[in-house]
Amino acid sequence: MRAISVPEEGDDSEQPPPKRSFLDAFLASKGADLKEIEAVKKVYPMRVTRHFLGLIQEKDDPIWKQCIPGKEELHDSNREDPLMEERDSKTSCLVHRYPDRVLLLVSSKCAMYCRFCTRKRKVGRIDEIPMSEIERGIEYIREHREVRDVLLSGGDPLMRTDSELEHILSELRAIEHVEIIRIGTRMPVSNPARITPKLASMLKKYHPVYINIHFEHPREIDEECSRALAILADAGIPLGSQTVLLRGVNDNAETLKELFQKLLKNRVKPYYLYLCDPSQGVEHFRTTVQEALEIFRKIQGYTTGLCIPHLVIDTPGGGGKVPILPDYMQELDEEKIVLKNYEGRLFTYRNP
Ligand SMILES: *Cc1c(COP(=O)(O)O)cnc(C)c1O
Ligand code: SF4
Repeated sequence: MRAISVPEEGDDSEQPPPKRSFLDAFLASKGADLKEIEAVKKVYPMRVTRHFLGLIQEKDDPIWKQCIPGKEELHDSNREDPLMEERDSKTSCLVHRYPDRVLLLVSSKCAMYCRFCTRKRKVGRIDEIPMSEIERGIEYIREHREVRDVLLSGGDPLMRTDSELEHILSELRAIEHVEIIRIGTRMPVSNPARITPKLASMLKKYHPVYINIHFEHPREIDEECSRALAILADAGIPLGSQTVLLRGVNDNAETLKELFQKLLKNRVKPYYLYLCDPSQGVEHFRTTVQEALEIFRKIQGYTTGLCIPHLVIDTPGGGGKVPILPDYMQELDEEKIVLKNYEGRLFTYRNP
């Protein structure tokens, strides 16, 4: 999910973050520079679940880099809102950019604070979104008949209680022109215990409900995460994934192929692979477009098309997501197209 906001340490979410002393002891035992971490935390808040910490094997591994502050965060000059979401905001918690669908932000909190989050400057600094603001967003949807698809986002919508979520879902389901409801979350990865049979049986009352889950690395799919995914899939909820291509975390074809194949085994269809947005404090995670295309080229064709997400750039300036592809189309004219297959061989298809 792409958050608007993330909490500071020690708020009142259901699953409390590890105590400072536990975290500091953990970090020290792995050889982290606590002073450096403190300096970064003054600018960008830190929060991590015990579950996610438990996936770390060593300092600076792909799990560590996602959740433990690094001094590189302080050394870039990117903009706070490159996607210009503020411009497309219709109420404080509703973004209407595309013709038929909207983003409804229902929580400003997440169970963990990802170091590469697009909105990391803002996040961690605002209070939870009041239900009255969400009601205003729902009112906007009610008045705009062209909205057939509502994507609940945040922060992480699953930071809301089951009953708050049910209230939001039931109001949306009562709107005739709303055909599908989607939820964007990282909770099956950050705090899989949040995914309960009770939550799933509530959600399924409001079908069609889709859930899109944020994954970065195959190691995130451990036994607990798999169990959470099975609970959702068994409730008939179609599951999709989104992933950000991150330097030092998942920027190679083997890691991503393993992630996508593992997702399919858990009934999650890879949906989007994003290039990292040029937001504040995330420059060190970015890869070039050429690297992204090369990685993508090494996956497409080598494994099932079901594994292949759309590779997209969320355009700075607010143009939305645009798909990019390696050069499969070599030549196109009135008569024919010349295609390059996954192995690099050329084939011609003639027009009628
Ligand atoms: C990503 C996004 C959506 C949903 O896009 P889909 O391509 O339908 O998944 C909707 N609104 C905004 C502002 C978005 O960034
Ligand atoms: S889960 Fe991570 S990436 Fe998603 S909104 Fe929260 S902090 Fe940002």
